[in-house]
Amino acid sequence: MKRALITGIGGQDGSYLAELLLEQGYHVVGLVRPGAESYDNLAQIAHEIELQEADLLHQTSLTQALRVADPGEVYNLAAPSFVPASWDRPVQTAEFAAVGATSLLEAIRTVNPKIRFYQASSSEIFGEPHESPQTEQTPLAPLTPYGVAKAYAHFSARSYRQRYGLFACSGILYNHESPRRPLEFLPRKVAHGAAAVSLGLQDELVLGDLDARRDWGYAKDYVRAMWLMLQQEAPDDYVVASGQDHSVRELVQCAFLHVGLSWERYVRVDPALERGAAELHWLVGNPAKAHTQLGWRPEVDFTQLVHLLVDADLERLRTGEAATSMERR
Ligand code: NDP
Repeated sequence: MKRALITGIGGQDGSYLAELLLEQGYHVVGLVRPGAESYDNLAQIAHEIELQEADLLHQTSLTQALRVADPGEVYNLAAPSFVPASWDRPVQTAEFAAVGATSLLEAIRTVNPKIRFYQASSSEIFGEPHESPQTEQTPLAPLTPYGVAKAYAHFSARSYRQRYGLFACSGILYNHESPRRPLEFLPRKVAHGAAAVSLGLQDELVLGDLDARRDWGYAKDYVRAMWLMLQQEAPDDYVVASGQDHSVRELVQCAFLHVGLSWERYVRVDPALERGAAELHWLVGNPAKAHTQLGWRPEVDFTQLVHLLVDADLERLRTGEAATSMERR
């Protein structure tokens, strides 16, 4: 039986990836922080997976966890993931998103260098991009503490691949969403707002810059790309993106149209919510390499994504399920 270890298993991607690996017949071990509470996202598969506590910054704790779990594949997804918050906690972001990845690579090198390693890299490593769309060759130019930390981890994976021959891959993933995202992430906020307004539970939705553009995809599609990377003959880095950017205005329009409303009546723009210059860049990825080498294609497009987000929030609000509760959607 194949064995995989996932850090950040309780998050959006970790929980979807765990479900995918279970479907593929893997034994799945999740690495969680010491003292971690139970995870809503894992409620449906709790009896099928094993959780182990370990501190990402503590080398002995990591090597011990690897020895016990004995995985053939390690997916490193643990990191603070809300980019704006990285300005409030830059040191913590660097510790867990950058140093944590290096600790894990070092533990793998020590315990079993044959372990295949996936690093959750991010489009934020391109920051203010030198070109659009971005490819695996686009120079890194991160602007946020999150992007800087992810760039460090990205280079670490590459460096361990070249120096030690580790099977280390970085997936440069663009924004991907699901009903498991918390409300501070924009697509979820818009979906929840449209659903709440349509049910008469909310009068308006307050947003920042409607002209901001992003390349959005569906999380379940994106975790499949992670898995495919570790099934190849050789390790490599891949851009995983939809290849299409959409404005916040399009997102809002699509969400409100889905509940039969005209967004202009309910959306108020508050300039105080606009992001700073470091986050106003235009990021759109070119997934051609993932298409040709991995055979990866997203199954859910932008409109389908917005509809499924709105439908999930409609259901939650109708049934009174807590907004943060994350069932197996
Ligand atoms: P989530 O925030 O949903 O999940 C992040 C996970 O990391 C959580 O399980 C969290 O654990 C864990 N984590 C955070 N900080 C620590 C820490 N200090 N020690 C141990 N565990 C920690 O993020 P996603 O699932 O969306 O993202 C997964 C990965 O992919 C992240 O690394 C993210 O940066 C990256 N990524 C995500 C993108 C996206 O659009 N979703 C785009 C590009 C990259 P806990 O629940 O205990 O807090």
